[in-house]
Amino acid sequence: MSETSPKLRAELEGIPTYKPGKPAAAGGPVAYKLSSNENPYPPLPGVMESVTAAAASFNRYPDLACTGLTLELAERFGVPVEHIATGTGSVGVAQQLVQATSGPGDEVIYAWRSFEAYPIITQISGARPVQVPLPPDEVHDLDAMAEAITDRTRLIFVCNPNNPTGTAVRRAELERFLDRVPGDVLVVLDEAYREFIRDPEVPDGIELYRSRPNVCVLRTFSKAYGLAGLRIGFAVAHEPVAAALRKTAVPFGVSQLAQEAAIASLRAEDELLGRVGSLVCERNRVVEGLRGQGWTVPESQANFIWLRLGEQTLAFAAACEQHGVVVRPFAGEGVRVTIGEAEANDIFLKVAEGFNKEL
Ligand SMILES: *Cc1c(COP(=O)(O)O)cnc(C)c1O
Repeated sequence: MSETSPKLRAELEGIPTYKPGKPAAAGGPVAYKLSSNENPYPPLPGVMESVTAAAASFNRYPDLACTGLTLELAERFGVPVEHIATGTGSVGVAQQLVQATSGPGDEVIYAWRSFEAYPIITQISGARPVQVPLPPDEVHDLDAMAEAITDRTRLIFVCNPNNPTGTAVRRAELERFLDRVPGDVLVVLDEAYREFIRDPEVPDGIELYRSRPNVCVLRTFSKAYGLAGLRIGFAVAHEPVAAALRKTAVPFGVSQLAQEAAIASLRAEDELLGRVGSLVCERNRVVEGLRGQGWTVPESQANFIWLRLGEQTLAFAAACEQHGVVVRPFAGEGVRVTIGEAEANDIFLKVAEGFNKEL
């Protein structure tokens, strides 16, 4: 055997590994997973039927261009078919966007803390992550992000609402920011939680994209639509960005099951969005409950809430787990808690109450 090993790109060293939300413990009396911002509802009956029917032909490759889904999306958002690009979850599309724009020596700006995939996909491309700290109100500091732009900046992520804090930037400040970004820098509005927004001042990225060729919007079927396990998301972008996404896509990456499920979900939208409405009610109940207990909770426009617990983070997460709810700790910073079933939210509120009394 040879002493040497294959040469790998130096950029891969030091890339953080994606940490998935911990699964709920098996075998305990109760176990709820509130660690990955998933939808707690099982797939709708019509969606299950479409997927089951599609399963009969998975000896075949899927439709490479996701033709049916792309047509439906183009129609419902009122955008040209060519402006839709699908991918293996919106993380997959985000990675393609970084690949298409940024290489060694280039810079990718995003708020921090934000979605943990951003540093990973930036570094895989060999680009340099430029992290702009969240201010105490946990809302993106768009002025600081604009000031961080250099002539090496190629892409800026705006996670709206932000994962893990749930906070959202509003129309006026976002438009002011977009006005400051040079036209040759791509701004990616990551709207994975769009359907959970209730603040009318938080803009729909697709409206902003229409008049701005350097704005790209990311959406996913993983959260509100409950298809996390099927890996399907999409971008809305002008040419040449959308064309670049088609070039960088993994061929046949989006399965036919995912395509059919997404189409069926769009057609079952009333029912799906009814469920989202219930989750939003639960979110408001949890936030009010926590505030009533004395916690500081940033306003969330997503299906999760954020508690900045600092040094208490891991202890709090352990207390939750002990009582049967698994949350997502970011050691030394805070805990992100997905809004789940009412029973799960009740357990979480109880744990939070007990923990707060001991602080
Ligand atoms: C969950 C999430 C996504 C979506 O991931 P998929 O790959 O579509 O499952 C994208 N962006 C953010 C900020 C998220 O939290």
